[in-house]
Amino acid sequence: DGSCICCNIPAGWTEIHHVLDWAKNGLTHTDNGVSLCWFHHRTIETSGWDIRMIRGVPHLKAPPWIDPTGTWRPASKARTDKGPTRP
Ligand SMILES: [Zn+2]
Repeated sequence: DGSCICCNIPAGWTEIHHVLDWAKNGLTHTDNGVSLCWFHHRTIETSGWDIRMIRGVPHLKAPPWIDPTGTWRPASKARTDKGPTRP
């Protein structure tokens, strides 16, 4: 993802978050993992951010006090990520 998808902390300082919870059979796979900094990883369930994967590309919805429109936006900054290419 190139950085924390919420706040742009460099990738080397991030952890990998299971978008679909591992306890709910979410796979440990790049199609289900996103980079989050320590803070966002610990608070993602309560901070108002929401993450979903669309064909392996993470999309992010900011809390309403940051983006009142509630718009889902592609979140990865990886230079190799060309968006959804798989069927
Ligand atoms: Zn962060």
